[in-house]
Amino acid sequence: MNIIDRDLTYTRAIRHFGERHQMLKLVEELNELGSAILKYTLEGHGKLNVFEEVADVEILLKQIRLILKADPTIDGFIDSKLERLSRQLDAWERSSNTLERSKDPE
Ligand SMILES: [Mg+2]
Repeated sequence: MNIIDRDLTYTRAIRHFGERHQMLKLVEELNELGSAILKYTLEGHGKLNVFEEVADVEILLKQIRLILKADPTIDGFIDSKLERLSRQLDAWERSSNTLERSKDPE
């Protein structure tokens, strides 16, 4: 399905089921994803089920973005959080490299 058809389907789903229902449905799907991830990490099986639950969550997250008209705000949070994470990783990797070098006998 192309992006235009996907967006149309999100909008139709919101109109058909209602905004409140879709927000509560996201909570249900988040719980299903959490259970699938626990099962996969603890028991080592069910990877395909994790993928399916990720798809369910992503479909509903797209709808929540539309319902709340949140795209610019969410994208802004994602950018700033990823930039902070990147700076932290740079710092952690620098200190890790410094530690590794101090352990090397020269
Ligand atoms: Mg599900």
